[in-house]
Amino acid sequence: MYLSDKLFWIKNRLFRPQAMRLYGEAMKNKKLSILELREINWNKRKSLVLYAYNNIPFYRKYYDSLGFNPAELKSEADWKNIPILTKDLVRKYTEELRNKSIPSSFTTTGGSTGKPLKVYKDKRFKAEILGWRAFSMWNISPADNTAITHRRVPQSGFARFKNRLLWWPTKRIYLSATSMSEEEISRFVQDLTRYKIVWITGYAGALECVADYILAHHIQITTLQLVWSTSAPLTTNSRNKMERAFGCKVMDQYGSCEVSHIAQQCPHSEHLHINYDFVHVDIVDGNGLPVYDEEGDILVTDLYNYAFPLIRYKLGDRGCFVKEACECGVSLPLMKSVKGRTSDMVYTPGGRVIDGSYLTTIFDNYPEEIDQFQIYQKADYSIVVYYRPKDSATERIDKVIETIRATLESDVASEIPISFQQVETIAHDAGKTRYIISEVALNKLNKK
Ligand SMILES: [Zn+2]
Repeated sequence: MYLSDKLFWIKNRLFRPQAMRLYGEAMKNKKLSILELREINWNKRKSLVLYAYNNIPFYRKYYDSLGFNPAELKSEADWKNIPILTKDLVRKYTEELRNKSIPSSFTTTGGSTGKPLKVYKDKRFKAEILGWRAFSMWNISPADNTAITHRRVPQSGFARFKNRLLWWPTKRIYLSATSMSEEEISRFVQDLTRYKIVWITGYAGALECVADYILAHHIQITTLQLVWSTSAPLTTNSRNKMERAFGCKVMDQYGSCEVSHIAQQCPHSEHLHINYDFVHVDIVDGNGLPVYDEEGDILVTDLYNYAFPLIRYKLGDRGCFVKEACECGVSLPLMKSVKGRTSDMVYTPGGRVIDGSYLTTIFDNYPEEIDQFQIYQKADYSIVVYYRPKDSATERIDKVIETIRATLESDVASEIPISFQQVETIAHDAGKTRYIISEVALNKLNKK
């Protein structure tokens, strides 16, 4: 075991005992049989539903109005009687869904409907431990040298210094997905080899840009063992491209802003292991009835969020279970990879690329002001931001728009004009509002 690895676990044991306790539980569960796991999962589900009904006014009202009582929850067959929780309900009753007696943090997401949504997370749960467990299946460690391309990267000298100290002796290198110039990508790629980076993680779009650069310059990357692409499902093409460029496998994963670690791939299967002891997944047909060998709507139940229970919550994705057990011997059930589109990117004529997943978050801090938005890049590179303000936000809206304008102008290095347009509605694309539409990205795609 390397020094970095030892120190990582010592630091966590000392300062984050709750994370270590959960990690211990997760690693123990990895060895259990499916029957033992089922029992754990079922007991956690029942406790959560009962708790929500007794402590969260929304659930009592909602379940009563539809004639469901948790006392009826006797066996698996009764589970389908629990009413489905939709995004619209969460959006409408955000505060009523929240349990203020439990410490929580909040996060906002666009989801697939194009309207910002605020959810709270139970601070007592440490979701990253599920990532650590997934790593254990790939024989790598969270303490191995890491490359990260994300929207939140340490920028100032002090932030970088603090980060180095925090992670020492593990090396972590960063590329900001909010604005990537060719020089920055080039330096990042050189650092992959220089610091013997073992795993790389970040937004799918940004990782793909780095992969494009590596392939275009015929650079050999030999130290990486895993790519962990987050935030947008990968197409087969981008996956293959990343594997060629980075010289290692891409770990497919499924998660969302509301429930981050739902399932991850192990090296022995093309499918994903569901974190069944921490998250319950249902797949249902149009009538809300379970389906097992066909595709359906995914419902998730976060078994560790008592601050903002999400029970049979419809994420807006389609999925399918896999009946077979995995060759690796871990009994966590399998589901097929959740397919979707990779996010669109915004480009500048000078070659900067702004990651689409990042752009979907720019209104994150203004759920009270902005109802819907869409960023549209025309073929001439100019950007129009369409937005629909909330009725109650008329006084603050100008200030919000000015803040966002300044952020975007800095992201595109003031290379292209950005205009804002207030609208009544945002056009839909097959029922889903798309956040980012880039004619420049589409033209590039068509040329490939
Ligand atoms: Zn497996």
